[in-house]
Amino acid sequence: MHEQSATGPHHTTTTERGSFALARCTCGWTGPARRSRDRARADADAHLTTADTAETRASQP
Ligand SMILES: [Zn+2]
Repeated sequence: MHEQSATGPHHTTTTERGSFALARCTCGWTGPARRSRDRARADADAHLTTADTAETRASQP
């Protein structure tokens, strides 16, 4: 997988636990347990977006 380098410090994966799926990130963030993997992926996407925004904001004075 070569997509890892493009995502910076945040690399999300989805894990399945029983009938639930949840998103995880290399930064330590974990999304809520979802009934569908699509939902978990959406959580991961949202995390990447918010994390990116937060970092951009934090780096600005
Ligand atoms: Zn993250």
